Amino acid sequence: MNRLKAELDKDIRDKLDAVLEPIVLTNDAVEKIMAIFSKHMDLANSPDENHRKKSDLLMGNSFIRELLDGSEQGDFLGLDLGGTNFRVVRVSFKDGKAETTTQYYTLLESVLCGPVAGVFDFIAESLADFVGRYEMAKLHKNIPLGFIFSFPSSQVSINQSVILHWTKTLRCPDGIGDDPVALLQAAIARKAKDLPVDIVAVMSDTVSTLMAGNYLDKDCRIGLILGTGCNAAFVEHISEIDKWTGDDKDPQHVIVNVELGSFGDSGCLDQFRTEYERELDRYSNHPSSFTFEKSCAGMYLGEFVRLILTRLIKEGVLFAGQGDKLMEDRWKFTTSHVTDIESDKGHSTVKTMEVLKKFDLATIATAQDVAIVREVVEVASRRGGHWIAILMAVLVNHVALPEVTIAIDGSLFERHPKYHDSMMEVLNKFCPKSKVKLILTKDGSGQGGAFGAVSALRQAARDLH
Ligand code: BGC
Ligand code: MG
Repeated sequence: MNRLKAELDKDIRDKLDAVLEPIVLTNDAVEKIMAIFSKHMDLANSPDENHRKKSDLLMGNSFIRELLDGSEQGDFLGLDLGGTNFRVVRVSFKDGKAETTTQYYTLLESVLCGPVAGVFDFIAESLADFVGRYEMAKLHKNIPLGFIFSFPSSQVSINQSVILHWTKTLRCPDGIGDDPVALLQAAIARKAKDLPVDIVAVMSDTVSTLMAGNYLDKDCRIGLILGTGCNAAFVEHISEIDKWTGDDKDPQHVIVNVELGSFGDSGCLDQFRTEYERELDRYSNHPSSFTFEKSCAGMYLGEFVRLILTRLIKEGVLFAGQGDKLMEDRWKFTTSHVTDIESDKGHSTVKTMEVLKKFDLATIATAQDVAIVREVVEVASRRGGHWIAILMAVLVNHVALPEVTIAIDGSLFERHPKYHDSMMEVLNKFCPKSKVKLILTKDGSGQGGAFGAVSALRQAARDLH
């Protein structure tokens, strides 16, 4: 795929191209990656456990089979535990409209790496704050709550799950193997006894985003998170799931949580990975895991760019070989810096200069340096957009409908001015049979948690018949 190139001195241009060319994913690579991903989807769906173990994907049953239809009434809560923020969301359905109130709470670094009970105490206290603030106890009944737990977990039922792994910013020494719902119930008993809530569902943020997207657009069949981490879920027909052991009553579909961040952990993507992705993995919170997530999610994109810039400085291509602050401080160049730089339009370099200033580079940067930084950021971002779109192309082709909408939540997609277009480059080319639309469902993951609670109650009512 072609890219724009800034005008530079010939020898600098050649050196820059030598560094950037290997970062561009070729059409041939795209096709190969699509085939590998499909194979891992099939393996994960196998009834044979030995096959499933060979897959990097979970393809987990979310137990959510009902999407919303507009007839909902009443109040529901969503709790969204993601990477850094924790959100409590109240959804009040009135006459076919979902009114949403959201409150953010910030998890402290010390809590993120402390015992898991501390994380859940924080959640229980925040929930109690929310219920008090909005006087929800006045409703005189327990409020159904959907808990969005955005870490790899294997679901046992609609409101029971097993934590498999920590990712992103969470680094608790314990919690693996525990049920997040039981952890939350225990924390509520410790910190906020008698809270008027019923935890009726637990789900991935991808599942809740899909539900929120589908509420807005009935062609929405895929939910994607592009934030601190990344992952997707899609609506699957149960006849397509070879490992399915649930009932085959209507509805005949279920939302499947792919858990695609761990794609590549078996080594199947090694030939496509760059030296920068390998290096950032070595210094990440959870080395040798979540290979795919580290290639395109918000927690890593900034560091990916920094490592390329560092190499260019060392080769004398950038800043006349200077830039200690940038070269030494791992993770200090963040995805916000990337989105800032990408927000500069045309010849404007205002945002780029602001970022360079933070690394003491504004005074030494020449016009050529600024052009190189912008090009690096663009090529690196575009690679991230292509990576995730390759996996989405496989899901779209699998869903195989003439129109497919992908609902996306997460700060990376929301703030990056070009991610949408980079993704569409791949989707337009590799999904010949579907018209694909990407929609931002801002805060959809939190709102969708409340939708999941609605769905859980409906299913319970249906199961009684
Ligand atoms: C987790 C997923 C989650 C995604 C987006 C990943 O790190 O493994 O479960 O859906 O982040 O929040
Ligand atoms: Mg989130």
